[in-house]
Amino acid sequence: MGFGAAHQTRDGALSLPSEPRDPTMWDLLILGAGPAGCAAAITARRHGLTVRMLEASSRPRRVPGETLHPGIEPLFARLGVGEKISEAGFHRHTGINIEWDSRSHFEPYGEDASGPWRGFQADRQSLATILVAAAVDAGADLCRPAHPASPVLDGDRLHGIATSDGEKHLARLTIDATGRHAWLARALGIASELRSPSLRATFGWMKKTPADGDREPRLVARPDGWHWIAPLGAERSAWVTLRACRPQDGSTHPEGGIDVSWRMHRPMTGPGYILAGDAAILLDPASSHGVLRALMSGMLSAEVAAASMNGQLNEGSALAAYRSWMEPQFDWPAPIGWSDSNVSLTQLSTAA
Ligand SMILES: Cc1cc2nc3c(=O)[nH]c(=O)nc-3n(C[C@H](O)[C@H](O)[C@H](O)COP(=O)(O)OP(=O)(O)OC[C@H]3O[C@@H](n4cnc5c(N)ncnc54)[C@H](O)[C@@H]3O)c2cc1C
Repeated sequence: MGFGAAHQTRDGALSLPSEPRDPTMWDLLILGAGPAGCAAAITARRHGLTVRMLEASSRPRRVPGETLHPGIEPLFARLGVGEKISEAGFHRHTGINIEWDSRSHFEPYGEDASGPWRGFQADRQSLATILVAAAVDAGADLCRPAHPASPVLDGDRLHGIATSDGEKHLARLTIDATGRHAWLARALGIASELRSPSLRATFGWMKKTPADGDREPRLVARPDGWHWIAPLGAERSAWVTLRACRPQDGSTHPEGGIDVSWRMHRPMTGPGYILAGDAAILLDPASSHGVLRALMSGMLSAEVAAASMNGQLNEGSALAAYRSWMEPQFDWPAPIGWSDSNVSLTQLSTAA
């Protein structure tokens, strides 16, 4: 077995084994080195699990999704990247400007005795670089680029993944953190439940601030969805346009863009596997909680993996605990209400 216990040193730090005891069997195989995968890897290493990560891209890429809810700050600290994140100097903001139904208002995140809560506008390439470095520093074995080709099964239990180069990566548990691609969920034929009309997002970046003096993201209603623009600092902005398929349009899918229809893969755990981040539950970007949810689910998936491997819980109970925390996340209040004639913002909560 590849499970190697962590040892506590006299100053309280964890000294972690960097090599698996059985090099043919990892404790945890993690597919995808995005926020969910890196959070899982860092957390698992803290528990002394041996970790191999398979990431399809050869290096961190620029992707959309920069607006991060303030609730993410304690997670960064917990993952040991708080200092690197503050050194990165990401633009901070205190809430979101919303223009909807001819109404315009500013929705603050909230505040406490130390002042307003501040979210981040984090360049995702920089964020990925920080998280991947933290996972590797913690002792995760990262293979990139690596392309999963097929699951390795023994009956109905997943034992690992074979990659396109013919190598088999065996593990006691495999976490699918491949984002909306949900590679493992698809490869295992896990059902995808839809909970929204068909939603498509297009996105891009531009070299100007959203509006004069606007330091906060702005969400503006459109007849078939919404437009989002967010300052990144240094006179750059990111934008996203979401289009929903309306019954009167007579089509089932808006054309172009990325499919961000709300969906959940169920069952999101099973013998030998856990789905985390967008691979488990994908909601459209309006709530700006995707990265937050990815980090939380990555951390929790590694916690339950460790609990089952160190004998605190049997695997079935550990995976059930994960599902009972994850599945209610799909009941997030929909920011887009649906009627015969139009889409409307029924609720947009920026609260955690
Ligand atoms: C247009 C748009 C705007 C968004 N805006 C926001 C926002 O403002 N705030 C916010 O919090 N969220 C936003 N989101 C959502 C957010 O980006 C995701 O929820 C978040 O990135 C999910 O993290 P993850 O780790 O699950 O997946 P990802 O970030 O998608 O990471 C998945 C990783 O897996 C890798 N991978 C993919 N396939 C494979 C494979 N077969 N094998 C190995 N590796 C693979 C990918 O290269 C990637 O590194 C937005 C999403 C979109 C589409």
